[in-house]
Amino acid sequence: MAHKELLARHRAVMPKWLALYYDEPIEIASASGRRVTDREGTTYLDFFAGILTNAIGYDVAEISDAIRSQLDTGVLHSSTLYLIKNQIELAEKIAELSGIPDAKVFFTNSGTEANETALMLATQARRSEQVLALRNSYHGRAFATIAITGNRGWSASALSPIKVSWVHGGYRYRSPFKAMDDKEYIKACVDDLREIIETTTSGDVACMIAEPIQGVGGFTSPPDGLFRAFKDVLDEYGILFISDEVQTGWGRTGEHFWGIQAHDVVPDAMTFAKGLGNGLAIGGVVARGDLMDVINANSISTFGGNPVSTAGALATVNYLLDHDLQANAAKLGSRLLGGLRELAEKHPVIGDVRGKGLMIGIEFVGPEGEPNPGAATTVLNESKARGLLVGKGGLYGNVIRLAPPMTLTEDEAEEALGVLAQAVERA
Ligand code: PLP
Repeated sequence: MAHKELLARHRAVMPKWLALYYDEPIEIASASGRRVTDREGTTYLDFFAGILTNAIGYDVAEISDAIRSQLDTGVLHSSTLYLIKNQIELAEKIAELSGIPDAKVFFTNSGTEANETALMLATQARRSEQVLALRNSYHGRAFATIAITGNRGWSASALSPIKVSWVHGGYRYRSPFKAMDDKEYIKACVDDLREIIETTTSGDVACMIAEPIQGVGGFTSPPDGLFRAFKDVLDEYGILFISDEVQTGWGRTGEHFWGIQAHDVVPDAMTFAKGLGNGLAIGGVVARGDLMDVINANSISTFGGNPVSTAGALATVNYLLDHDLQANAAKLGSRLLGGLRELAEKHPVIGDVRGKGLMIGIEFVGPEGEPNPGAATTVLNESKARGLLVGKGGLYGNVIRLAPPMTLTEDEAEEALGVLAQAVERA
């Protein structure tokens, strides 16, 4: 089979730590709407959307046209040495959508670079290498971001200059404060944050960085208001707050355009990537102007904000706003959450169903409530066998993650629920 040969070549030439799904990984050859077709001709409903990069579905004419018109100019390069009109327009749009006063935007090629940049700004601004992050976090795979990632499966011992302290708050289901109600939980996390600042740092912490809903960590869902309470403490100590919106941005959580807005917090900086380019490589930072301008030297990004990516990204943002995909994410997200909660009542192997909008996690457990990664793997494979691609993740690899394109239809949501019901029977 052609894909077996391709897999052998992949293994020979790519690093062994480059994660691949499925014993027989698929090669996606074409895509349309919410469906992808592999080289063998099998079509799948895509409920992981290229790790949430595909915000608005595949093969959208408005996006292809925008990219094509840029290609037609012959200008594919950028470098930030010259003016790029669609890049400036995109920055204006993101600055406005961010709600951050006097916001400025810097474009990168990925979420990792976006977070590295935000950390560089905060550590420069506060002249401190100390950073607070959440346990179970994932922020990328370069020097600073790998150092602050609080998830064993995705961290590596990087000799990073960053000093990090991790606090409770993200992963409630397996937190020592799990049994508490929302108010008590928030108080316990805030007390922990204060104690961490007072006892594990020298007091001059640069920033806290957090995902409003942890993505790689298993679509965890802290109670609304947690980050408001955190921010009040951070303000007391003069610590900056960076919201990592790489997964939670662009309306995916349904309720709000940015995940952090559920907590009534305006961060000092937000980082974004994934859905922005609907698959094109683009990320960035939006920050208060004074924070963005803190670097006292020239810098460039050779590829960041290149005109092909910014053309596609601008068309993507316009599309998702024009079609109010945030509202669709809210509506179909609650239908999926409802259907999955009914499924959980019938199947004790499901310990938790959580999430917001089209960012839903299903945590699989054993008889004593222990993590059950085997059940999640079974559901991943059984779903694929029935034509549905889903994601897997969580600290223990026991969470199935659902994040379809935000153009999902009701019929597709029902189809996925039907497949998942059959797959869970096998777990
Ligand atoms: N931040 C979050 C919350 C992520 O989920 C990811 C990637 O999964 C990143 C940062 C890193 O983004 P990238 O893979 O584009 O470097």
